[in-house]
Amino acid sequence: LIYMKDIVKYYKMGKSTLTVLDKVSLEIQEGEFVAVLGPSGSGKSTLMNIIGCIDVANSGEFSLVDEDMMKKNEDQLAYIRNRVLGFIFQRFNLLPKYKAIHNVAFPLLLRGYNKEKAYSRASELLEKVGLGDRMDHKPTELSGGQQQRVSIARALVGDPKILLADEPTGALDSKSGGEIMDLFMQLNDEGNTIVLITHDLQIAQKAHRIIRVKDGKIYA
Ligand code: ATP
Ligand code: MG
Repeated sequence: LIYMKDIVKYYKMGKSTLTVLDKVSLEIQEGEFVAVLGPSGSGKSTLMNIIGCIDVANSGEFSLVDEDMMKKNEDQLAYIRNRVLGFIFQRFNLLPKYKAIHNVAFPLLLRGYNKEKAYSRASELLEKVGLGDRMDHKPTELSGGQQQRVSIARALVGDPKILLADEPTGALDSKSGGEIMDLFMQLNDEGNTIVLITHDLQIAQKAHRIIRVKDGKIYA
């Protein structure tokens, strides 16, 4: 599903070059639940942003769903981003003024779904993540763990092939973080492919496989 070979990402900083990903190679199969574990600054988010087609590598091979992503233009990347990937972030990134149900329905409304269909799909997903009784709450009226559930429901709304989560438990206490991990494990049991980034070994151990990153390199 995800294939990378010798991916290099660097930034030119004046006269020097900062190499953030140094020949990273990995392969992730459909149905896997993989954690990417590494210390702060090791290149985890950069790696996720490249897998997520938010950022582009300088060199190497990268394919997603058997498509060569190094040859795509911005429109094609955006298409894949919307159809193949679902994103979950540490800070939830919800629309603060809108109710949970609208936050989840929003991506579908943007895609031109009619309101009724979008809202019925959104309510289905909020039920699934355990927020059937919180649909009309705004983000400020929800706990951190609940807000993350809303963002997971939103990530699922377009039936993505891959869920990409960057430190999804990073802003949560260990109890709600554990509950969010239980939800990811349930979603993986149901067939979702998940790539989850964390610097927390305990969290990573709940995944099926751990990819360890340090200084821009995979070492285990
Ligand atoms: P954290 O656990 O703190 O989120 P991370 O492993 O996700 O860290 P990245 O965000 O991938 O780390 O950053 C890797 C390195 O790349 C860091 O040293 C960072 O300073 C550098 N970096 C990231 N973005 C840029 C940029 N736009 N320009 C220059 N350097 C950058
Ligand atoms: Mg990061």
